[in-house]
Amino acid sequence: PNLDSVKVAVRVRPFNQREKDAGSQCVISMNSNCTTICDPRNPENRKSFTFDIAYWSHSGFIKNADGKFIPGGLGSRYADQMKVFNDLGQGVLDNAWQGYNATLLAYGQTGSGKSYSMIGYGANRGIIPIVCEELFRVINNNQDKNKQYQQVSFSMLEIYNEQVKMLISKQCAPSSLKICVDVFLFLFFGGGKYLKGETEGISKLVTSPATRPMPRTDRLNSPSDSTSMYLAQFFYKIFLEENITKQSSINMVDLAGSERQKVSGSEGDRLREGTAVNLSLTTLGNVISSLAEVAVRKRVLHIPYRDSVLTKLLQSALGGNSRTIMMAALSPADICYEETLSTLRYAERAKKIKNKAVVNKSPTE
Ligand code: ADP
Ligand code: MG
Repeated sequence: PNLDSVKVAVRVRPFNQREKDAGSQCVISMNSNCTTICDPRNPENRKSFTFDIAYWSHSGFIKNADGKFIPGGLGSRYADQMKVFNDLGQGVLDNAWQGYNATLLAYGQTGSGKSYSMIGYGANRGIIPIVCEELFRVINNNQDKNKQYQQVSFSMLEIYNEQVKMLISKQCAPSSLKICVDVFLFLFFGGGKYLKGETEGISKLVTSPATRPMPRTDRLNSPSDSTSMYLAQFFYKIFLEENITKQSSINMVDLAGSERQKVSGSEGDRLREGTAVNLSLTTLGNVISSLAEVAVRKRVLHIPYRDSVLTKLLQSALGGNSRTIMMAALSPADICYEETLSTLRYAERAKKIKNKAVVNKSPTE
């Protein structure tokens, strides 16, 4: 089997209102795939990191009245959702079509742009819904008689407080796949934004037994929730000519915010939630550190996959049979310097992991 490294991308977003109000300076710069962060209290102190891809989505350059290019606006340098999908989402799909398992993780502090990239807001759709549609488009348009898509399933899980909730779970005949996409969009964006006029039909789908999401609590259902993780899983199986079966599973995760929970000041439930949410994320960190150590020092170590729900679910994706991509989301602002630096360090560790991906191919029984 091939040994391949986890592929790592970073993406820096525009200033948010809070950062603008604070008169923030941008501490991130990118030059091709090199990302540099500058310590706002000591500008001499710069650290550079090289990842597979660096997305500048902070701002672009716009022409002012004199025809000069000045920073601002969302100009040509701005890496938009389609650009990010074309690399990362398409990368996941390419691996899946070849029969490799594929995993994409978005990591970063709350507000850094994980959900924007993975799920999206409004018209700026993220990677998961586009992958979803693209997967179904390819399957539905298949004209090749030697390829038979046998089984396709899609599920969306929420991990919150070490509990897993199934939001959508569906095994589909290829012809009904569009329903999955619609249900997905409905759940995450509500009826208004995407499905003007179709809302009524979709509500019927969501409450029909085949597509009804499992019971959910009221606090669910917003990609801006910083303590939940959303995991989209696809599985497909295809019969090829000469009695070969290929299959693949895809995992895409919008992780919980990576910032340390402020323990002081939290009480009761809040504290318990904070602690438990950290368990999956902390364990993910421990798993990544151990795997990086195994790869670099060639040591045999116990990998604590079983310590949390998330790492159990992703066991084969991390250091196992999967091609894995991590996208680290970055705030550009000086006020987030410490967190952003720790995200970059985390991403650097992830880069060292080696996976052993194999094509899932077997003779048809
Ligand atoms: P997270 O999921 O990491 O907590 P969000 O994805 O919800 O963060 O992003 C926080 C805010 O920043 C949102 O309002 C989002 O629209 C905006 N944002 C994030 N990334 C980008 C981007 N690449 N371009 C434009 N706006 C972005
Ligand atoms: Mg989010």
